[in-house]
Amino acid sequence: MTFQELGLAPSLLEAIDVSGYTEPTPIQAGAIPHILSGRDVIGSAQTGTGKTAAFALPALHILDGHRKGAAPRCLVLGPTRELAAQVEGQFKKYGQSSAPKCCLIHGGVGYGKQRDELAAGADVVIATPGRLLDHVQQKTMSLDSIELLILDEVDRMLDMGFIDDVKRIIRSCRNKKRQTLLFSATVSEDIKRLIKGSLRDPVEVAISIKISPAETVKHEVYPVGAMQKFDLLIALIDQMEVDSMIIFCRMKVGADRITRWLQERGLSCGAMHSNLPQKARTKALEQFKDGKIKILVATDIASRGLDIANVTHVINYDVPEHPEDYVHRIGRTGRAQREGDAATIVAPDEQSKLDAIERFIEQQIPQRKLESFNYFHEPIIRAAEDAKPKRRRRNSASSKFGRRR
Ligand code: ADP
Ligand code: MG
Repeated sequence: MTFQELGLAPSLLEAIDVSGYTEPTPIQAGAIPHILSGRDVIGSAQTGTGKTAAFALPALHILDGHRKGAAPRCLVLGPTRELAAQVEGQFKKYGQSSAPKCCLIHGGVGYGKQRDELAAGADVVIATPGRLLDHVQQKTMSLDSIELLILDEVDRMLDMGFIDDVKRIIRSCRNKKRQTLLFSATVSEDIKRLIKGSLRDPVEVAISIKISPAETVKHEVYPVGAMQKFDLLIALIDQMEVDSMIIFCRMKVGADRITRWLQERGLSCGAMHSNLPQKARTKALEQFKDGKIKILVATDIASRGLDIANVTHVINYDVPEHPEDYVHRIGRTGRAQREGDAATIVAPDEQSKLDAIERFIEQQIPQRKLESFNYFHEPIIRAAEDAKPKRRRRNSASSKFGRRR
C-alpha cells in the first residue's frame, strides 16, 4: 500500500513526502480509506505507530483548506496540553499548503488569546476537555458546527478522569451529519460504553489488540536495594552515552527531588509533571527537544503519546503502577524505527509490579547487574539464559513501520 493509493490530495502527498514517510503505517493504511469514504472509525494501534497522521491526513483532505468566517468544522479532543499541542503541530505540518486555521485550546494559559482566535474563525479546534467546556459554557465557542469529531488517546482521557467531560462534549456536538473518529492504544469495555450510541455504524480498525514493547527498544531490569536506587541511577547514567534521556518517576515529588539531586551533580536536566505551571512544563519540554537539557525527569504525564524525536534512553526510576504504562514509558524511545535503550530500576518491594508487567507483555525482561557498581547487597539476578537481550531488529521487514528505502 502506498500513500498515493489512499486517495489523498496532492498537497498532502507532498507534505508526506517532505516528512520523509515512505509508506503508510498499518493503522494509516487501515483507517484512512474508511475516513475518506465518510465512515465513523474506531482505530486502535499501539503507541508510536502514527495514529495522529491516520486522522489528521484524511481530516485535512476533507476540510480542504480554510473557509473564511466559518465556524470550526473539526474538533480534536486530547488528554493533555502537550499532546494537543503535538496534534496541532502535525495538522500544521501536513496542512501547510491548504492552510486551514488551527486553534489550540487548553488550560493553564489565559483565555484572551484563545477567545480572539476563536472569534477570528478557526477550521480546526484542538482541545483538552476542561478548557473546551469552559469556552462552550461562556459561549465563546459553539460545537454545533462540528462536522468531524476526533477523540484521540481515549484510553488516556478515561484514565485521567475525563469521562464525564468527554460525554458532555460528544452530546454538545449536535450536528446530525457529524462524522466521528476515535483513536486509542487500546479499546476497553469502558471506552465502548462511553461511545455507545455516539458513533454511526463504526468500522473498527484494530492493528494489535495486545500492546507490546516496540521491537526497536532494548529493555533491561536492574535489581537493587531501595536505599541504593539513586546511586544506581547515577552509575547507569555515567555508563550510558546519554544524548537525550527521560527518567520516569511515579510521584511528582519524586520527580522534583531527582531533578534537584541530578542538578546538584551538575547534570543538565529539567522536570515535567502536572503540578508545575504550564510555562515551566512547556519550557522543560522545549529545552529537552532542542537538546538544551539532556535529561527530562517526568511522571506518567509524559509517557503516552508525546512524540519527542531521538530519545536515546529511558530509565524507570520506579516500576510503573499499571503494566500498560511500562509499554508507554519505554515507547518514548525507539520511536519510528530508531533504536533506544530502556532500563528499569527495581527494588525488592516492586517485584510484584514487575511480574505483572512481564505477564502483560508476555515476555521476560532481561535482568542485569552493573559490574562497576558497588552494591550493598548482591542483587538477585534471574538466570542468564533467560536474560539474553532480545535481538534488535533494525530494518527487519516485520518492524512496525515496514522497510525504509
Ligand atoms: P501514536 O499517536 O500512534 O502514538 P504518533 O502519531 O505520535 O503515534 O506518531 C509517532 C511518530 O511516527 C511521529 O514521529 C510521526 O511523525 C511518525 N510517523 C507517522 N506516520 C509515519 C509513517 N507513515 N512513516 C514513518 N513515520 C511516521
Ligand atoms: Mg497519539
